[in-house]
Amino acid sequence: MARPPFRGSFTQQPPIPEEGVAAALAVLRSGRLHRYNAAHGETPEAAALERDYAAWQGARYCLAVASGGQAMQIALRAAGVGRGDRVLTNAFTLAPVPGAIAAVGAEAVLVEIDGNLVLDLDDLAEKAWISGAKTLLLSNMRGHLCDMDRLAAWAAAGGVALIEDCAHTMGATWNGRKSGSFGLAGCFSTQTYKHMNSGEGGLLTSDDAAFMARATMLSGSYMLYGRHGAGPDPETYADIRLDTPNMSARMDNLRAAILRPQLRALDAAIAAWNARHDRLAAALAAHPLVRTPERPAQERYVGSSLQFMVPGIGAGAAQALLDATLANGVELKWFGAAEPVAFTSAHRSWRYVTPQALPRTDRILAGLFDMRVPLTFSLEDCDLIAAHILDALDALGADAGLAGQGAA
Ligand SMILES: *Cc1c(COP(=O)(O)O)cnc(C)c1O
Repeated sequence: MARPPFRGSFTQQPPIPEEGVAAALAVLRSGRLHRYNAAHGETPEAAALERDYAAWQGARYCLAVASGGQAMQIALRAAGVGRGDRVLTNAFTLAPVPGAIAAVGAEAVLVEIDGNLVLDLDDLAEKAWISGAKTLLLSNMRGHLCDMDRLAAWAAAGGVALIEDCAHTMGATWNGRKSGSFGLAGCFSTQTYKHMNSGEGGLLTSDDAAFMARATMLSGSYMLYGRHGAGPDPETYADIRLDTPNMSARMDNLRAAILRPQLRALDAAIAAWNARHDRLAAALAAHPLVRTPERPAQERYVGSSLQFMVPGIGAGAAQALLDATLANGVELKWFGAAEPVAFTSAHRSWRYVTPQALPRTDRILAGLFDMRVPLTFSLEDCDLIAAHILDALDALGADAGLAGQGAA
């Protein structure tokens, strides 16, 4: 069967819209790149982005920062988390999440995921009880949302502060409510591989004025917090302005200028991602060895990446699948590898976190494959990619005796 190899790039994002390029050039020509450097009567791009994003997210406040990791770190600190405190988080996430917990001197308590790649809410309740942790840094990893209504009710009842890592759920909703608005704060990334691209960047949203005042001081606002686009009233700062350290993690006007036109186009981008994601997912789910995560009716996801599982696959067969697909230009990631590769990582490779037994998560990750779905792929590209993966799965099923285990 002479199927042509796939020749696209799994890391190639679309160019910055011309409107963003023009806005960026205007900032460069002005020389006023720093967010507090404004001409008389001018609203700098960073403040305008905060105003636009707060409106889009439906949040009272928004703070633009230097990265998604900084948004999480600032959120934890502004929530009062410090040295020795325990913070619950998903065992399946990427390294900036345990990294943010480590940055504030806290200890990560890792919670199992379930077969649909979301936080196991029963394990969460148990680990919260045992550890006494009063903060949850929820990672909506790879865009999968757990039952957010149940989670938010549990957190409110138990006095657990909920901070959402929405690096993969910018624009996603649960029961019509935007991801990032279920607890104290939402943390977003505008790093190149996320839903908006400014190279690096982050956004923090909240409805809590005192929290956002602390976060703004922490981000490095000096005494210029009055110049923010969607910040609390200046009086909110009266008690904290001299007590909150400046940790310098601001966003600049150049990146904000690039982001504002992308925000206006985000709903269209989400529709384009989902068309690609759903085309791939439908093709792969038809294979007897494959299980794809269930997507609840309450969830509107953003299919910027795709996950599928081959339950029971061994390490040798998993590597064979990676090799066979890569030989045809298809770059799959496997979360079961012993060592972290590129952006993937598993909890055992975070040596700064106390080792924890997570048998259920480990079993799921052992058979979990993942790929990016950049918007530079056409629907025909998705068909070709799926065909190569299906070919490789057929070959596996034939020689590894895996057939029939898909339903396990
Ligand atoms: C990318 C990412 C972040 C934040 O990343 P930055 O590179 O710091 O912007 C947070 N959580 C997850 C799961 C991510 O993938």
